[in-house]
Amino acid sequence: MRTQVAIIGAGPAGLLLSHLLTRGGVDSVVLETRSQEYVASRIRAGLLEQSSVDLLTSVGLGDRLRAEGHEHRGIYLNWPGERHHLDFVDLTGRTVWVYGQTEVQKDLVAAGTADARYEVTEVTLHDVETDRPFVSYLDRDGNPQRLDADVIAGCDGSFGPSRHAVPSESFERVYPYSWLGILAEVAPSTDELIYAWHPNGFALHSMRSPTVSRLYLQVPNGTDPASWSDDRVWQELATRLGQGQDGWKLTPGPITDKSVLPMRSYVQTPMRHGNLFLAGDAAHIVPPTGAKGLNLAIADVTLLAGALVARFKSNDTTLADSYSDDALRRVWRCTHFSWWMTTMLHTSGDPFDAQLQLSQLKWVTSSTAGATGLAENYAGLPIGF
Ligand SMILES: Cc1cc2nc3c(=O)[nH]c(=O)nc-3n(C[C@H](O)[C@H](O)[C@H](O)COP(=O)(O)OP(=O)(O)OC[C@H]3O[C@@H](n4cnc5c(N)ncnc54)[C@H](O)[C@@H]3O)c2cc1C
Repeated sequence: MRTQVAIIGAGPAGLLLSHLLTRGGVDSVVLETRSQEYVASRIRAGLLEQSSVDLLTSVGLGDRLRAEGHEHRGIYLNWPGERHHLDFVDLTGRTVWVYGQTEVQKDLVAAGTADARYEVTEVTLHDVETDRPFVSYLDRDGNPQRLDADVIAGCDGSFGPSRHAVPSESFERVYPYSWLGILAEVAPSTDELIYAWHPNGFALHSMRSPTVSRLYLQVPNGTDPASWSDDRVWQELATRLGQGQDGWKLTPGPITDKSVLPMRSYVQTPMRHGNLFLAGDAAHIVPPTGAKGLNLAIADVTLLAGALVARFKSNDTTLADSYSDDALRRVWRCTHFSWWMTTMLHTSGDPFDAQLQLSQLKWVTSSTAGATGLAENYAGLPIGF
């Protein structure tokens, strides 16, 4: 089998890249180890930046997002005794949208633009530094296959093989805490996300829809989700999120999913080796505090699709040659912002750190300059930044 772009991974990066290439008249085939149903049901990111929404809308993927997603003007920052709203529209003229990664994934599948092969195994990249790279794999029936391509796009997340095929330098920060995340069948107790600093640890009240809430608690690394009963989860969330402050109350409900997510920052450079290009989690991981993971994947493949369409349609390699540098400029900005939000809000037990964090929170919520910096990064810089 031959195609112009062999895409490894049918997560949001891989499927969106295929969609953008199809629109630009470039052929691609997507290889994915998991089943289509498994990929579509993974509970992950839930917040889209303005640039992601604009991009998805401009390429025909915005109808359901705009009908069923929820536009938020900003976020709340909370610490014991105080809650402040940062209004991104007033500060930057930009908004964010609550729309789950599962929904983005469904929209990409429904678009029907990707030629995706699911449940393949033993995916191996070959000759990526030559003009004739190829991928070998076993199809879902176990038959050996070979996919020849001009270019391979590694969109296979943090556990896929693509990143290992790039001789690279990596930068990493492992945080000494994790998130215990729950999904609950209950209406959110807030109109917009609440990020809470508390001496017991960070908490976040997010949501997926008017009837489904998503909430998180900072927990020590290695925490077993089963060691947290539902009652204990709700009680701790209420404490950290400020139950009783100005009469605010957290409404508990049935928990349908409980998991622990370790926190890590990771960047691998460069994002290209020969004719292999990396995009999304294959090249970088951010802790979810800044809601950047999915948005970075969307930004990467938008740049990559433009570069590959120019290369195949106009024989112009300028954008492909600058792809790694162009993408990394935004990746490092988002990596810094995610690290900054994480370290401002997660407690370490050190009283000096706690005072610095509270000082930072008070500045961000009382200074227009401080608030604008947070708002500009949270609502998202333009994709070409
Ligand atoms: C548990 C969890 C919770 C998260 N929560 C948030 C959040 O709240 N907010 C946020 O912004 N971000 C969050 N993220 C990050 C966000 O989901 C990712 O940044 C986003 O999924 C990146 O998309 P991607 O397509 O690059 O990678 P992925 O979504 O990981 O997709 C990669 C795909 O490649 C496939 N693959 C792997 N190996 C192979 C192989 N050998 N061959 C073929 N295919 C392969 C995988 O099965 C997968 O489908 C979370 C991530 C995780 C893991």
